Amino acid sequence: MSFVMRLQWFFKTRWIYYALAIGLMAGVNLLQTIPPKMIGNTIDNIQKGNLTASELSGTVLLLVGLALGMYVLVYIWITTLFGNSVLLEKLLRGRFMAHLTRMTPGFFQRNSTGQLMALATNDILAIGNTAGYGVMTLVNTLVGATVVIVTMISLIDYRLMLAALIPLPLLAVVISFLGGKVRVRFLAAQNAFGKMNDHALESISGIRVLRSYVQENRDLAAFDGVTTDVMDRNREVSLLNALFQPIISLIVGVSYTIGIGYGSYLVFHHEITLGQLISFNIYLGMLIWPMISFGEFINVLQRGNASADRVEKSFLQQPDLTDPEHPVQVDVPTSIEMRGLSFTYPTADHPSLKDISFKLERGGTLGVVGRTGSGKSTLLKQLLRQYPLGEEQLFVSGVPVEAIALDRAKQWVAYVPQEHLLLSKSIRDNIALGKPNATDAEIAKAVEMASFASDIAIMPEGMGTIVGENGVMLSGGQKQRLAIARALLMDAEILAMDDSLSAVDARTEARILQHIRRERAGKTTLITTHRLSAVSHADWILVLDEGRVLEEGTHEELMHFGGWYRKQWDRQQMEAGLEESE
Ligand code: ATP
Ligand code: MG
Repeated sequence: MSFVMRLQWFFKTRWIYYALAIGLMAGVNLLQTIPPKMIGNTIDNIQKGNLTASELSGTVLLLVGLALGMYVLVYIWITTLFGNSVLLEKLLRGRFMAHLTRMTPGFFQRNSTGQLMALATNDILAIGNTAGYGVMTLVNTLVGATVVIVTMISLIDYRLMLAALIPLPLLAVVISFLGGKVRVRFLAAQNAFGKMNDHALESISGIRVLRSYVQENRDLAAFDGVTTDVMDRNREVSLLNALFQPIISLIVGVSYTIGIGYGSYLVFHHEITLGQLISFNIYLGMLIWPMISFGEFINVLQRGNASADRVEKSFLQQPDLTDPEHPVQVDVPTSIEMRGLSFTYPTADHPSLKDISFKLERGGTLGVVGRTGSGKSTLLKQLLRQYPLGEEQLFVSGVPVEAIALDRAKQWVAYVPQEHLLLSKSIRDNIALGKPNATDAEIAKAVEMASFASDIAIMPEGMGTIVGENGVMLSGGQKQRLAIARALLMDAEILAMDDSLSAVDARTEARILQHIRRERAGKTTLITTHRLSAVSHADWILVLDEGRVLEEGTHEELMHFGGWYRKQWDRQQMEAGLEESE
C-alpha cells in the first residue's frame, strides 16, 4: 500500500505504539463478543425455566465489569493511536519547513505561497488523519469482522452466517469504486484550497493598494469566485461521502432480512435455539460498525493518499544548488572576481547579465550603476549563491565559487536587499536578525552607523517598538536604515547594498557612507545605486546597460570619458543644486 510505504520511516519508529493500540483494539473487539453470548444463554435459561437468582446477578456483575474494563482499554488505545497521528503531523510539518528553508528562489517562483501553506496545513492534516483515524477504521474492520464472523460460526451456525453475508462482496465493489473517485475529487478540492490561500494572502497584503485604487468590491467578487470553487469541490467530495452510509445501510438491511428469515426457519426446524437466533442478530448488528468502518477507511485512505501525492511532489523538488563534493577551504575572501559572467534567470528567456568581468580586491569598494532593469540587483545577487551559475565565472580568493561550501560563501556576505523584508517583531530583534546574541553596545553602534539612532529615540517604545507586519509602522527611509543597521551589525567581510540609500536624503546618505568607509576599512563593499554620489568614492565603478558593462573605471576616469556616467552625474548635480537653493 503506497501510503504505508511513503510513511515507512514513521511507522518504523512508532511500531510499538501502533502494535499496542492495535492489540488493545483487537482485545476490545474480542471482549465485545462475550455479552451477546451471555444474553443468549440467559434467555435460553429463562425459556427452559432454570434461571437462578445468583446466576442472574453473576451475569449482571460480569457484564458491568466487562464494560468498565473495555472503557479503560478503549481510552488507552485511543490516546496512543491519535497521539501518533498528531506526532506525525508535527514531524511532517517540521520536515516540510526544513525542506522549504533549503530551497532556492527558483522553487518559490514555481510554487506559490498559498499552495505551500495548504500543504503545511490541510494536506498534512489529511495525512495525519489517515495515520490515526484511518488505522482505527482499518483495524476495526479487519478485527471486528473476523471476530464476529468466527464467533458466529463457532457458537451458532455457519450456514446462517454465510447466508447473511451474501451481500458483502457487493459492498466491497461499490466502495472501491467510490474510493477511486474520492481521491480524484479530494485532490481537486485541496488544489482549490491552495488557490484560495493565494488569493487571501494577496488581498490582505495588498489591501492598501486595492483600497487606494478602489478595487475592494472587484477583489471581493473575485474572491467570491474562488471560495465558490472551493465550496463546489468540497461539495463534490461530500456527495461521495454521503453515498457511503446509505449504501452500507442498505446492504446491512438485506443481511438482517436474510438473517432473520433464514434464522427463524432454522429455529422452526430445531436446528438452532431461539437464544442463538437472538445472539446471532446482535452479532449481525455488531458487523455494521466494521462495515461502516471499511467505507470510512477507504475514504480516509484515499484522501491521505491524495494529500501525500501533493506533499511528496513538493518534497521531490531538489534545491537548484547543491554543495560541492569536495569543498575548497577558503577562510577569507581576499578578492572577488567575475570572468565573463553571464546569467539568465531560470524563468527568463534572455540573459540578465552578459559577459561581466571585474576584479575587486579585499577592502575595495565596487559601485554598480545603470538604468533601471540594467541588471544591478542581479549582479549583486550572484554573491548570495541563490541561483546556479556557469562554471568558472565567479571567483572568490581565486577559487571558483562553485567549489566553496554554500554556507561558507553565504556567511561572508551581509546583504541589504532592494526590497527590505522586516518581521513583525521589535526593532531590536529585526536588527539582530543575523546575530541574535549581539550585545546592546554592538547594536547601538550599528544603529549609529546607519544614522538610525535619532529615529529610534522618538519611537513610542524605542528599540522595543514592534514594527508591524513588514514594517508598516516605519517610513521608507527608516526601513532602509533599519536594513542597513541589520547588515552592518554582522560586520561581514562583504557588504552588498542594493540601492539601499534611495529613500534617504543626500546629507544622510553622505553621513552613512562616511561611517561605512571609516568603520569597514579593510573590508569589501558593493553598492548599487541610482544616485551616483553614493559611489563616487568607489575604487571601481561599473555602468551596466541591458546586462552588459557599458562603461567602467574610477569616478575621475568615467567623468573624463564623458559617457552615460558623466551626463547622469552632471544632471544629478544640477538637480541637487536646485534643491539646495529652494
Ligand atoms: P532597478 O534599478 O530597477 O533595481 P536593476 O538594475 O536592479 O533595476 P535587475 O533587478 O537586476 O535590474 O533586473 C535585470 C533584469 O532581470 C530585468 O530585465 C528583470 O526583468 C529581470 N529579472 C529580475 N529578476 C528576475 C527574476 N526573478 N526572474 C526573471 N527575470 C528577472
Ligand atoms: Mg535593482
